[in-house]
Amino acid sequence: MRTIIEGGFVASVDPVGTEHRAGHVVIDDGVITTVGAGPTAAEQREDAEIIDARGCLVTPGLINTHHHLYQWLTRGYAQDAILFDWLTALYPLWSRIDADLTRAGAAGAMAVLARSGCTTVGDHHYIFPKGSGDIVGAIVESAARVGVRLHATRGSMDLGASQGGLPPDFAVETTDAALRASEASVEQWHDASFGSLVHVAIAPCSPFSVTADLLREAAMLARSLDVRLHTHASETVEEDAYCAERFGKTPTQYLEDLGWLGDDVWMAHCVHLDERAIERYAATGTGVAHCPSSNGRLAAGIAPVRDLLRAGVPVGLGVDGAASNESGQLGIEIREAVLMNRLRTGADSFSVRDGLRVATMGGARVLGRDAEIGSLEPGKLADIAVWRVDGVEHAGILDPVAALGLGAMPPLHRLLVGGRAIVVDGELATAEEPIIADEVAAASRELAARL
Ligand code: ZN
Repeated sequence: MRTIIEGGFVASVDPVGTEHRAGHVVIDDGVITTVGAGPTAAEQREDAEIIDARGCLVTPGLINTHHHLYQWLTRGYAQDAILFDWLTALYPLWSRIDADLTRAGAAGAMAVLARSGCTTVGDHHYIFPKGSGDIVGAIVESAARVGVRLHATRGSMDLGASQGGLPPDFAVETTDAALRASEASVEQWHDASFGSLVHVAIAPCSPFSVTADLLREAAMLARSLDVRLHTHASETVEEDAYCAERFGKTPTQYLEDLGWLGDDVWMAHCVHLDERAIERYAATGTGVAHCPSSNGRLAAGIAPVRDLLRAGVPVGLGVDGAASNESGQLGIEIREAVLMNRLRTGADSFSVRDGLRVATMGGARVLGRDAEIGSLEPGKLADIAVWRVDGVEHAGILDPVAALGLGAMPPLHRLLVGGRAIVVDGELATAEEPIIADEVAAASRELAARL
């Protein structure tokens, strides 16, 4: 089966940043086979489905490297708090979550991600109350319903407040239970094949909610299972102070000593990294999920993305959980990244094309999928966003990439995952949006009522 996207401004995000003002992309059986300038060759058009992309910007599908999908049910809480106070306010609510509620929240969060150009969803789920059912399975189910590619993680917390951690004791698991469940999730859901729709990584939550034992053993477990590792790191000055007081180390030193730097690891946030930490991330190939909106919402600070990129660190983009980023739209994070990084390092330090690259190839590197997704190149999966830039928001704009990186988020003409259209003319094509919205509203009410 062949599909051709034709006539749009193609930003391939290949290694040299090739762009075609009016180009074409040919897709055969879900894989990109040709990317070029001008119209498609006549012999290629026979029996093909043609997507007319005139007036559109064609980019790789965006890749989200950090989220907590269940938080879709807890938007609007603790609006003016910093991280530790915000977490403390929300833990009691989150610890009432179960698989059914997570399924509804995840579908809502992923529908909004898809509607904002996201084709690959990274999730970090770390709260598993007793008797809450198969939460990872529920997330996998919702990803299939929406049609996105999923990088689930089996997260965990085992350091309750009575042991010096931040979460209340009722929100944590035992170290052994967390490790056993992490292994079981990988064995049940992780698929490492080319074009896989579900990967699973192992993801203890953060240095202030997890014991050193769990971090060390989770790293060994992930490596024995050949899956990636993920956690939160260096998000706030309070975390720095916690690590200094408790371990006498920076978060980076602490994590490195536990086996947590490496090219199979990615960390969320990395706002407070000193020069030495950036050097260690670069030397080890450790990836970073940059979450500008969430960092702004919680006033955590601005991550040193320019310095990370110059050092060669893989950097992707993340919306983070919707409790600290009620938008949940990945498309607008490109603009947030451009604006925030310019505030930190100057107007010429981070271009719209830097933003697009971080949101696509950067994310692919961070998730270890750079051979399969992240750019429009022959041999890669047809995960493609076709953005309308000829509507009232953008008609006449000099540069279509600036429409995405500086302007309003453009509506989607099409969003393809492995060649399958999951968004058509700005709306989800795989599920009924009003039904998902009703389910989210009911689940949010139900969770609030459990408190
Ligand atoms: Zn997070």
